[in-house]
Amino acid sequence: MKKALVTGGAGFIGSFLCERLLSEGHEVVCLDNFYTGSKNNITHLMKNPRFEMIRHDIVESILLEVDWVFNLACPASPIHYQYNPVKTVKTSVLGAINMLGLAKRVKARILQTSTSEVYGDPEIHPQPEGYWGSVNPIGIRSCYDEGKRVAETLMMDYHRQNQVDIRLIRIFNTYGPRMHLNDGRVVSNFIISALKEESLIIYGDGQQTRSFCYVDDLVDGIMKMMKKDNFIGPVNLGNPGEFTILELAEKVIELTNSKSKIIQKPKREDDPVRRRPDITLAKKELGWEPTIPLESGLIKSITYFKKALEDLA
Ligand code: NAD
Ligand code: UDP
Repeated sequence: MKKALVTGGAGFIGSFLCERLLSEGHEVVCLDNFYTGSKNNITHLMKNPRFEMIRHDIVESILLEVDWVFNLACPASPIHYQYNPVKTVKTSVLGAINMLGLAKRVKARILQTSTSEVYGDPEIHPQPEGYWGSVNPIGIRSCYDEGKRVAETLMMDYHRQNQVDIRLIRIFNTYGPRMHLNDGRVVSNFIISALKEESLIIYGDGQQTRSFCYVDDLVDGIMKMMKKDNFIGPVNLGNPGEFTILELAEKVIELTNSKSKIIQKPKREDDPVRRRPDITLAKKELGWEPTIPLESGLIKSITYFKKALEDLA
């Protein structure tokens, strides 16, 4: 059994990862500054003697003894990462330096949650890991995209220079229960609007595409990557099913039986037009591929958000 540190462990993906680690018998130290995360996501884990929570900001260093570091701390929704862009860069860059320093000192294996955003607005479709990306370095998404790209560089340099045992994953749009009600990403926005019978807002013409992965599938991939020897990545983890944002809106309205209308607002700056992972490498090296189709994942998410909205009322 391992002692695992999960930064961003009170967030959406992090809380599911903490749960999975505990269910496999590992010890978990969850570290979070609660910027977008919530105690509600982890209160059910507090009674487990193998679970520990530390309120801490990864921009500051910390001394801990662990075997595994899962570095998830970073706001992931455009509205949250653009709220304080300088802080977003600090979280990705100083956070990676601090976590890599920790991993180096205690000889831990460290997994960095990078993102499909490193491909920017891609000219190659679907995106394989060998593609270097098309990223605007000075736009409003750059604090996140470039921050994550530097974090990848740091991972590779600590590996080459200091032999740190790294794992690098590039996560594509992931959704599911426990996304914050104000998260602002498209799946939670559409479900919440549909449940409230409010209009679903599409930015642009709705023909831009994304590929949506259910959180359980992603956590399977993260665990496989952490346990795999002699493979550092980077590896894409995402669901290759590709949908336009308009198709997603229509599907959510259908599944919620909602009378909501779809309205359009201007396209967001630097919004990538198409995005779909090439997961050939993940299949080959990890034997991983998603198993949960969009419709089933949406139904599970709708059930969660219905209850969350009822609890608020
Ligand atoms: P989230 O916003 O729900 O979780 C992020 C967590 O990190 C939150 O609990 C937040 O409070 C914490 N955090 C933020 N800044 C911090 C700091 N400076 N110090 C300590 N804690 C901090 O987002 P998520 O969707 O769960 O994403 C988790 C990770 O996965 C992020 O690194 C994100 O970039 C990456 N990722 C997610 C997706 C996705 O579609 N969900 C896609 C690509 C990459
Ligand atoms: N989007 C939308 N309506 C919303 C939220 C998002 O039309 O309420 C669009 C957004 O412009 C983008 C896509 O949905 O084209 C995915 O956005 P999200 O913020 O979920 O993640 P991204 O992949 O852009 O980081």
